[in-house]
Amino acid sequence: MAQTDIVPYTNRRIRRKGEALPKSTDVAVLVEQMRKAMKIHDGIGIAAPQIGEAVRVFIIEKKLFPGADLPSDVFINPKILRKGFKREISEEGCLSVPNVFGQVSRSLKITIEAFDQNWKRFRLSTQELLARVLQHELDHLDGTLFIDKADADTLHEVVYDKEGKPTLRPWTQKSKIQNPNDKTNSNF
Ligand SMILES: [Zn+2]
Repeated sequence: MAQTDIVPYTNRRIRRKGEALPKSTDVAVLVEQMRKAMKIHDGIGIAAPQIGEAVRVFIIEKKLFPGADLPSDVFINPKILRKGFKREISEEGCLSVPNVFGQVSRSLKITIEAFDQNWKRFRLSTQELLARVLQHELDHLDGTLFIDKADADTLHEVVYDKEGKPTLRPWTQKSKIQNPNDKTNSNF
């Protein structure tokens, strides 16, 4: 597995709970790998377990949130301090579940605390898409995927025909994992 390969949902490693990192651990190499993987696979964010590292680190694509005034795009040992009562349902996808999308209910507003790459503690209160991305990435650190939380009736796969024209078809996690031809099953 190349360092920038993404661990798919069919690989049990994606389900491991990430360990908290001891303070002052050098994360430069890990973060660099995650940045590369996020760029190659065009992600909004990526969590360490998605590149096979079961530790509590995720990063987000800062460029996509120009108005957010982010203290850091690296989140080490993150914790949600507050979750708003109000929830919002919106579509999500995931690099570990390629071409699959579904509607997930998340808190509209959250306050998160984490350490940046230099182990400086920071807090961020945010809402809407950024709050959703942070909750999605945090779930990865506990081995949870959006397909576990999505409304099952809304899960769908985008399939491309020979001309590259996309069509949508319903998707279930179970049918995929039982597919004996899915080579990713043996990739743990
Ligand atoms: Zn994901």
